[in-house]
Amino acid sequence: MMNTFKHDNLATDVYASEAMRSAAPVEKIPHKGTSPQVAYRMVKDETYAETRPELNLATFVATYMDEEATRLMNEAIAINYIDETEYPRVAVMCGRCINILANLWNTPEEREWKTGALGIGSSEACMLGGVAAWLRWRARRKAAGKPYDKPNLVMSAAYQVVWEKFCQLWQIELRTVPLTPDHLTLDPEAAVAMCDENTICVVPICGVTWTGLDDDVEALDKALTKYHKASGNDIPIHVDAASGGFILPFLHPEKKWDFRLDRVLSISTSGHKYGLVYPGLGWVIWKDKKYLPEEMSFSVNYLGASITQVGLNFSRPAAQILGQYYNFIRYGFEGYKAVQQASMEVAEYCHREIGKIPCFRNYAEKIDNPLFVWSLCGEYEKTAKWTLYDLQDKLKQSGWMVPAYTMPKNIDHRIVMRVVVRQGFSHDMADMLLRDIRNAVTEFEALRYPTTSRLKFEEREIQCGKVFTH
Ligand SMILES: *Cc1c(COP(=O)(O)O)cnc(C)c1O
Repeated sequence: MMNTFKHDNLATDVYASEAMRSAAPVEKIPHKGTSPQVAYRMVKDETYAETRPELNLATFVATYMDEEATRLMNEAIAINYIDETEYPRVAVMCGRCINILANLWNTPEEREWKTGALGIGSSEACMLGGVAAWLRWRARRKAAGKPYDKPNLVMSAAYQVVWEKFCQLWQIELRTVPLTPDHLTLDPEAAVAMCDENTICVVPICGVTWTGLDDDVEALDKALTKYHKASGNDIPIHVDAASGGFILPFLHPEKKWDFRLDRVLSISTSGHKYGLVYPGLGWVIWKDKKYLPEEMSFSVNYLGASITQVGLNFSRPAAQILGQYYNFIRYGFEGYKAVQQASMEVAEYCHREIGKIPCFRNYAEKIDNPLFVWSLCGEYEKTAKWTLYDLQDKLKQSGWMVPAYTMPKNIDHRIVMRVVVRQGFSHDMADMLLRDIRNAVTEFEALRYPTTSRLKFEEREIQCGKVFTH
């Protein structure tokens, strides 16, 4: 049916309008438009959050910024970052953010403008770091007269999906080191054992998406140096610090995971995660300009400053850069530290309290970032009538989004649940969540029959040879 709305006039109420009384367009653009008020309501009503964003403990991405930051970003909504001749100050501000991050990560680069790039998120930033490593490797192989058609990349099996995309799109072999009960993070020795002359880089993760833990970058750096001496293969590190990049400098400045390590040539992070900016913003920094292949970059001059530009996207919103720079000024080092510390405390509190509930077992004893995962105790799981998927559903009834999922390959039989604590999740809210979890568990324990999700779980386990008796 064609939407024509011919009976509406200025006095027509929004919900009495013909547009509102008809089905929303799904396949074809309506022949005639409607009023801004009606269009607004229709889009707004459809996109109304199903849970309050601050109760969404699944996402890592900022859902809170203060009023001035929000105003600043809204006022910049029409600015395209790439229009640098029109908005040269935005490009300079972007360069300042890159400088600030490079220095937070202890860059040795002495140039006035450090080498880095902005991305829509860590995904774009990771891609750029990966492409640079691949091109550097290729140039080295070419120069040595060796084949350069079989590049590979080594990282933990608990990688974020962007690395799978990167390897697929650039045709690079992804070699993954499985997690084991003894190695809850990347095992450096096992990673080195997968390396060869075709390894473009190893990618440790600070703030592993699946577990919240940090891979030990310093141990990896050492292991790769030892391997270099023994094999002659000089393999660099790109750190995927999507979360950790904004946690470590503030909470563990003494910890070496960044450019202080020899092999760390590039680092990426998400400005919209613990950088505390609304989506989408990511950053990648190189240790020095010489590690950013020429063919990826072009230099431009604004107001006498030389700024290197690199990116997969061309047009992109500028508002996030203003938001990031605002945050740097607004919080300062001490402010960022306080915010991250507050999130860490709430996460540690939840971690401790979850650990006290008899049916649960935390994945790790201590947490590195303000997020953690837990599962049902092995013994408990044998006879339970429910799974963490049931708990996820139950919590959804009170508005919480707390995801349950299975772990990556090798420990993929394990169902875990994850809480990501972000700015905006207070101690009081943690108490509300914990109460809801405890109540749900009490309810599940009174079940007389297994839930559908439990039956499915058992079916899968039986296929793997397990026996159940109830
Ligand atoms: C979130 C995340 C990414 C992807 O980042 P976006 O900012 O969502 O594009 C990559 N790696 C890790 C470890 C992440 O946690």
